[in-house]
Amino acid sequence: MSRHWAYISIGSNLGDRLQNCLQGIAALEADHLIQLVARSPFYETEPVDFLDQDWFLNGAIKIETVLAPLELLGKLQRVQAAAGRTSKGVRYGPRVLDLDIIFYEDLVMRVLDLTIPHERMHKRRFVLQPICDIDASVVHPVLKKDVRQLLAQLNPEEQKIRPCSFGS
Ligand code: AMP
Repeated sequence: MSRHWAYISIGSNLGDRLQNCLQGIAALEADHLIQLVARSPFYETEPVDFLDQDWFLNGAIKIETVLAPLELLGKLQRVQAAAGRTSKGVRYGPRVLDLDIIFYEDLVMRVLDLTIPHERMHKRRFVLQPICDIDASVVHPVLKKDVRQLLAQLNPEEQKIRPCSFGS
């Protein structure tokens, strides 16, 4: 079985945000089909899209896995459900744990439940900054720009983020 690298974005804005994110990472690491390669620092990030909610804590990890993309999505959804996330609630609204596949090597795919690279990642500082911290040279396979260039394209006035002051 061949191993593939992937980047997963992690977020929480309900309850103990840091614990939720760390437990999510630990649950992925506990799966023998997933190896953690790198973890970014965490950031406190201003909500986007649905603004009337608390700031998020966001980070990213790089993994290696033998899981295929849809199997990996299934794993992320089980970990989110175990953290107490329900399917109810406002789109882009408060969530105990959010795990998204951002890149899966240089794969480009779009099926009903899964779009890789993640559809909105290139517009989101809370996704780009943590990935940039792990490896600024990762290239978006459709936009043909690396994450450092994508980050530099964002309006500096929008989407405030600040390094997390309480844990790393
Ligand atoms: P969200 O509420 O933003 O976490 O969206 C969850 C939904 O997005 C799930 O039903 C997934 O099937 C779908 N989805 C599409 N592309 C991705 C992706 N790259 N990573 C995670 N979820 C995705």
